[in-house]
Amino acid sequence: MSDNIQNQFINFISKKELEKKGINENNIFLNLNKNQKDAVSCLDGPLLVLSGAGTGKTRVLTSRLANLLKTGKARPSNILAVTFTNKAAKEMRNRLELLIGPDANSLWLGTFHSIAARILRQYAEIVGLKSNFTIINPDDQKKLLKELIVIENLDEKKITPQYVAHLINSWKDKGLSYGDIEKTEKKYLIEGKAGKLFDDYQKRLLSLNCVDFADLLLHNLVIFRQNRDILEKFQKNITHFLIDEYQDTNTAQYLWLKLLVNSNNNICCVGDDDQSIYGWRGADIGNILRFEKDFSGAEVIRLEENYRSSKYILNSANNLISFNQSRLGKSLKTSATSGEKITLMSTGDGAEEARKISTHIENLLNKGVKFNEIAVLVRAGYQTRNFEERFVQIGLPYKVIGAKFYERQEIRDAIAYFRVILQQNDDLALERIINVPKRGIGSQTLRTIKKYSRLENISIFNGIEQLILTDELRPGVKISLESLIKQFYIWQEDIKNLSHTDLAGKVLEESGYVFSLQNEKSIDAENRLENLKELINAMASFENLAGFIEHISLVNDGENSNIDGEISLMTLHAAKGLEFDAVFLPCWEEGSFPSQRSIDEKGIVGLEEERRLAYVGITRAKKIALISFSMNRFYQ
Ligand code: ATP
Ligand code: MG
Repeated sequence: MSDNIQNQFINFISKKELEKKGINENNIFLNLNKNQKDAVSCLDGPLLVLSGAGTGKTRVLTSRLANLLKTGKARPSNILAVTFTNKAAKEMRNRLELLIGPDANSLWLGTFHSIAARILRQYAEIVGLKSNFTIINPDDQKKLLKELIVIENLDEKKITPQYVAHLINSWKDKGLSYGDIEKTEKKYLIEGKAGKLFDDYQKRLLSLNCVDFADLLLHNLVIFRQNRDILEKFQKNITHFLIDEYQDTNTAQYLWLKLLVNSNNNICCVGDDDQSIYGWRGADIGNILRFEKDFSGAEVIRLEENYRSSKYILNSANNLISFNQSRLGKSLKTSATSGEKITLMSTGDGAEEARKISTHIENLLNKGVKFNEIAVLVRAGYQTRNFEERFVQIGLPYKVIGAKFYERQEIRDAIAYFRVILQQNDDLALERIINVPKRGIGSQTLRTIKKYSRLENISIFNGIEQLILTDELRPGVKISLESLIKQFYIWQEDIKNLSHTDLAGKVLEESGYVFSLQNEKSIDAENRLENLKELINAMASFENLAGFIEHISLVNDGENSNIDGEISLMTLHAAKGLEFDAVFLPCWEEGSFPSQRSIDEKGIVGLEEERRLAYVGITRAKKIALISFSMNRFYQ
């Protein structure tokens, strides 16, 4: 992502807003307690801030970054800061802008994935990619794997794409590439074909000029390990590292950091072992526990004052987490008033639960609580449905954070068109829209094209170009395909002359997509047309098409900031690092939360991670927390 683009998606927070939060650029230490001050002024050598929820870790990290610049210890381009939420990134960038103006752009700021993507675009050729590579999402990943599973004659019902994806991702998150797996017994998993599937999958990604999420880090590791000069350049330039939520880093991220952090060891990590909730995605809590060994001479600072939650909320969370065996243990206190006790609510079924919670919400609204200070946090994404239905029914504005706008069918179709324009070899995207809207290209034709392309070892796009010169396809199909290909070439030219938003509008019109929706004349079709307009609006704040596509490939669940005055609906995982006046925690039934699957798979380890998730949920609340469960839940 270019600096400019990164800057654009991080909206501006005014100086006033920062001051309201007790942040003053003339006095970085204002409104910090003694331990926080120590952490902010400890600028040399490794530093770990290890403390519980709401103790100001993220605030310390941001203030420390400001202090690095203010004292002249580092310039923005010398600093790499990894944040978990967009909100934190926004705050960091704004503080920086207040301190040093537009120079703030050169900071390496973002998630691990977005920073790694930025590096990979610079050196893509080294790993056999072009710099305009596409970052595929988990759905595309599964689609690709499904094809490979079929080619290998495996039973797709038994060996699901999901399972293979999980296996490959878990290796990648550990920093293992095919070369590493090949040397181990693991390659014999999946009826002896795991190694081959992994290898074929990687080759297929390369031929499509695509990467999956984990590849961003893995390719970085290859580039750094095989090219000392490049690694040394980064080590020389980036002198200070700041990492938020360190307890949820995975092995690949850890290895990446270990390579980059230069001999001066200026790394500051903040985290909380009690909030490690991404074990299922490869996070290794051991990273934070090992910090002092990994970075010699490390200073460890603990923060004990919680500034977020009222006393009852904090005590309940502390009590709950104390049942976990494997934890460092810490004492947390608050000088806040007792506040309200946590409410525990029993309901008959899911619909009643949504009704009752919405009544609670209306009461809060009547008392003056703002929409965006209210959140409903669920264990699993689908559990937002009851709440969405209820909120729509009674007209409460809400926003599902994470269950993304970008996952809607029409949005993904539009994005597939854009992806092919940017990179015509993106088979996954082309396959998605080759017959959307309908242009007479059936599954038989697609099979012919794919088979031909595979044999010739070329992309589907090139395969079509060659096939339309032969008699393999019916004349009608040939005409359709020829005009589609021509159209893509025209759009590729248009990029040079049109703004990306104008181009997007043109593509949706000229592809016939808009026309086909208009023809449907249903409410659903109207909504979709509205969504497409919204998509073009969203694109406007990006510099170009490529920047926009990169952004949407990388948005993290919790990244969408909610400034629009809407209730937030999201998963507990996505809520990490955030805070709200009132938090509703529904669906706490045994089996659902704690998740039976997690316990079945990992036993006590799984149960403890579920408990940490509950701890994260409760500690998002500043003043009000309500936990509810249903006696009779009907899962569809
Ligand atoms: P989490 O573990 O959930 O990520 P955290 O430790 O990162 O939490 P922050 O989000 O930085 O905590 O801070 C929690 C809240 O406390 C924020 O609203 C922050 O502005 C406020 N806060 C932090 N330090 C202080 C302080 N010294 N005085 C007053 N408020 C503070
Ligand atoms: Mg935080």
